[in-house]
Amino acid sequence: PSPLPTLIGKKRDGERLEDAEIRSFVRGVTEGTAQHGQIGAMLMAIWLRGMDAGETLALTQAMAASGRTLAWPPAWHGLVVDKHSTGGVGDKVSLALAPALAACGCKVPMISGRGLGHTGGTLDKLEAIPGFCISQSPEEMCSILERVGCCIVGQSEVLAPADRVLYGLRDVTATVDSVPLITASILSKKAAERLSALVLDVKFGGAALYPTQESARELARSLVEVGTQLGIRTVAVLSRMDQPLGRAVGNALEVLEALECLEGGGPPDLRQLVTVLG
Ligand code: URA
Repeated sequence: PSPLPTLIGKKRDGERLEDAEIRSFVRGVTEGTAQHGQIGAMLMAIWLRGMDAGETLALTQAMAASGRTLAWPPAWHGLVVDKHSTGGVGDKVSLALAPALAACGCKVPMISGRGLGHTGGTLDKLEAIPGFCISQSPEEMCSILERVGCCIVGQSEVLAPADRVLYGLRDVTATVDSVPLITASILSKKAAERLSALVLDVKFGGAALYPTQESARELARSLVEVGTQLGIRTVAVLSRMDQPLGRAVGNALEVLEALECLEGGGPPDLRQLVTVLG
């Protein structure tokens, strides 16, 4: 493939990138040979010009292949499932849903993210628990799943490393709300988890990344199409977010509210969403 400045120029001018060109960009991101200025420019070109379904799939696959793919014991076949949200204010659903699914016998190897734009991050919330460690090796994840049934970890040098870099740079380059970039970010992490089934909570409204139901539906279509092409049974739920979910906003407060929910209490909107997604 051509050098990175040529690829950035191609996308800037509205042309389609070939699969090998997308893989070359992602390799530069993962290996550290692409400068942050170049990565930011490519992200903005993608934000402005978009990507077609084939480019979005190629970006997701290249990002998924940037790190290790997790492997599970044969006895867990069909049980390894996950949920991911496009993000919203006060969204603490993962903190309650992962252990609830584990209590039902599922295995949930959730690779999550930090705050993005104005939406909160599950990892930041978990770090409000003193001593909580969001960084676990694939072997440690397997042992936690064996004992506990679920774990929530961050991207790392070995788990979805390309998303770790792109996620941080999107947050500071006004390139968060892009259908292909969100699709590849979420599904590269989910592909690395080697899931049987995935439910996506695609939010719309003033407290979400997308304001309208129509724009959220377009994102949901992209997520379900690419997830299915990756071999994951994928469904999406559109959920309204014109105000924060539940009553608590703030990392430690949200952990407390998720615990209330797990004990059978908590606000009704949170309990309903956890139940519907579960
Ligand atoms: N969650 C992610 O992991 N990535 C996004 O781009 C948005 C929400």
